Amino acid sequence: MIILLFVFFIIFTFYTSCIQFEFPVYRVVVDPGHGGKALLPKDYHGDRFDMLSMKYKDIFREGAKYRQYYEHIYTYEIAVRVEKILQLTLPDGDFKKFCSIVQKYTNKPFERVCIQSFVSRQPSLNSQMLHKDPNAPYRLFDSFFPDGTLQEGRISYINSLHPHMVVSIHFSLNASRYYRGMNAVIAAPYNFLYKGLQYLQGNGGNRSFFYNSNYADWFTETEDKSSFFWYCNDVMMYFLGYRMTSNYQPDIEAFRGYRYNMVQWMYNDPPGWAHIAKYHPAKTAYADDIKQFEPDNAFFNREQSTFEKYRRDGGYEGYGGDNLYASNEIIRYVLYNLYMHGVRHKEQRLAPPYISIWSIPLHVNAINAYMELGYLARPYTRYILDNHLDDMAEGIAAGIYSLFAGIEVSSKISCAPYGKKIDLKKYTINNNNNYFTIVR
Ligand SMILES: [Zn+2]
Repeated sequence: MIILLFVFFIIFTFYTSCIQFEFPVYRVVVDPGHGGKALLPKDYHGDRFDMLSMKYKDIFREGAKYRQYYEHIYTYEIAVRVEKILQLTLPDGDFKKFCSIVQKYTNKPFERVCIQSFVSRQPSLNSQMLHKDPNAPYRLFDSFFPDGTLQEGRISYINSLHPHMVVSIHFSLNASRYYRGMNAVIAAPYNFLYKGLQYLQGNGGNRSFFYNSNYADWFTETEDKSSFFWYCNDVMMYFLGYRMTSNYQPDIEAFRGYRYNMVQWMYNDPPGWAHIAKYHPAKTAYADDIKQFEPDNAFFNREQSTFEKYRRDGGYEGYGGDNLYASNEIIRYVLYNLYMHGVRHKEQRLAPPYISIWSIPLHVNAINAYMELGYLARPYTRYILDNHLDDMAEGIAAGIYSLFAGIEVSSKISCAPYGKKIDLKKYTINNNNNYFTIVR
């Protein structure tokens, strides 16, 4: 009996040491967009809960829909498939099966890593789930029950997992010809946003810094105003929390809240901040006069760090940092997969990124691959969803793996992935910590 126990002990020790030490382990959150419903009234069912007004600032964004094609359904269907494939890389997974997938992309040997994957939400809300606060499991930001208890949103949940990478999957409804294809969604780097603040404060000179930048291709909410206008509007929201008037001033009627205080992480203002913020004092990050605004708090200090520069500026794409590289690389893997399956179409292309101050890229420390994988109003996207959903998921999973291990693809077709892994060492802080673990 004792010998038997000893044998079990040896086997158990060997097994757990394999899990812990044999291969590098990376954590990836697959984040399927949306899931809840744009129910009214907003005061009960919205998102973006603001501590100053104690109200939601947004209706719940339920995502794109075209006929019977719902974005939130397909994003979830893809996410669970990606998770299943990545689970093959774990010590108790079927790594041979994973190799047979990767061998479709390369005939060269590749490094082994383990990828622990999580999906950021449950299946989408359906009619059976209409309880009191049906959007609670799907909100991006934290909210508060009427009794004052905190309900953590999806971004807080993501940060609690300390992921190395967050892969956000979306589809859009339609876009101009320029954007047709598959697009990355990225947050501009701090330096570029700060130049906008200086411009709005009257110290910035002319607008040429904007038009000469890699980030000039700014996301426009409507076509009736210039990309520079929308850039300034987003700069205003990013720093002051207000939308902008047509005179380039804070719109005092349109306060959108301090997003960095709507999630649980290390960069919140100290407890009680809302009691100070509601007076919008000058020479603080709560000022409502743009000339009196100072980006001086934990969040804006983080924004100015080199780690954020790595995430959002420079890198293999020449701009956009590791976030843009990760997004574009995963898209290239999807395109490569579709090409290998004989699919050809003029919209099967890597299209330009959507650049703005998006919530998920800004409020996680992980590398964020955020992608619009197509347009539901376009027949090509619907064809892919109907016929190549598994292939799309496989391309995403292979792309994620390559970003950690590097997979040099065999065919040098025009949309071929670069196959270079991200240098994660630059995010190291000390022996025990890196940027991804210090988020919460
Ligand atoms: Zn979406």
